[in-house]
Amino acid sequence: MLISNKSKEIIDSCRFCWMCRHICPIGNATGQERNTARARALSLSLVERGAAKLEGSIVDNVYECALCGACTKDCATGWDPVKFTKEVRLEAALNDQTPAYITKMLESVAANKNPYGVKEIASDLAAEIKKHADKKDTVLILGADARYVGKDSAIAAMKVLDKAGVEYTVLADEPDTGYVLDTLIGAASETKEVMEKFAKEVSGFKTIITVDPADAKTLLREYKEWNIDLKAEVITFTALCAKLLADGKIALKSAPKKYSVQDSFFLARDLEEDNTRGIVEKIGDICDMLLVKKETVWAGSILLREYIPNVIDKVASRRLDDAKRVGGECVVFECVGEYEAAKKIDGGIDIISIHELIADNLK
Ligand code: SF4
Ligand code: SF4
Repeated sequence: MLISNKSKEIIDSCRFCWMCRHICPIGNATGQERNTARARALSLSLVERGAAKLEGSIVDNVYECALCGACTKDCATGWDPVKFTKEVRLEAALNDQTPAYITKMLESVAANKNPYGVKEIASDLAAEIKKHADKKDTVLILGADARYVGKDSAIAAMKVLDKAGVEYTVLADEPDTGYVLDTLIGAASETKEVMEKFAKEVSGFKTIITVDPADAKTLLREYKEWNIDLKAEVITFTALCAKLLADGKIALKSAPKKYSVQDSFFLARDLEEDNTRGIVEKIGDICDMLLVKKETVWAGSILLREYIPNVIDKVASRRLDDAKRVGGECVVFECVGEYEAAKKIDGGIDIISIHELIADNLK
């Protein structure tokens, strides 16, 4: 394989110690060894040694990973299974070995700026976007998941910013941040081109507010890694709301309930941000699940639900069970894709996005 020496080293350094086995949300949902970082490293080491080909079920397995980084955090060797998984996805794409279900999503990204085949955004969201067409110094980036699927979170985020008197633009033809391409095919030239286009189209803004942590992580981490010059300061919706609350620009009324915060791994692990609990505490009680913050367990996403829906329904259901087990009454989601995946199941517990929770409880 043409993957980096670092990734080859990671694959070969796996000690098969099983420390990552209990932590993988997908492996725990399927109960299959093949879904652990350990098993993935083993199958890829066979490819590396010429004993197997990078095709069929081996490639499928590479896509049965959320890139959530839970295994990276716990890996006994200190290596990063996410790194080789992303590089092998790129390798599969370069060798035309991308599974048909991924190719279909890539075609939709190229045609519709989202992987879900959605051609138009909802009319109520379009009407809200239109109200914010004037050019300001700040741009609100809704992201593919909120713009094309999770419109309630997008509309709620705008309601909060309007209440706070924040002046911002929402682009009618919002450029793609590259989050989906980075996830599906990693550092391909197409991904870089999309990111460069995004950077160019927002170059006239001083500040970027991201609705979705997935886009925040892409802009703050991947752009830096690939030397894509983003002139604007990037701030997450939750970080901004924490500031607006501290500055008295918004106030929240109480809506007593036991809230379990579903930390997005993009915020908790990748960006090391934790603003949501401080916000939720102003509304009700925090009832934390066992594994939270940097230890968070991914609860699924609409992106992976496109091709492994039954597995993702189980992943989401298991996480909502975690909240019920500690007596939580409502799960608060930071990440739009996770929230929308959880909406697809009947988890037996209330769920809400942080955007909606704040918007619903503005004084
Ligand atoms: S990154 Fe997450 S989903 Fe992928 S193998 Fe590691 S723990 Fe499992
Ligand atoms: S924790 Fe790391 S070294 Fe151990 S099995 Fe998992 S990937 Fe391999």
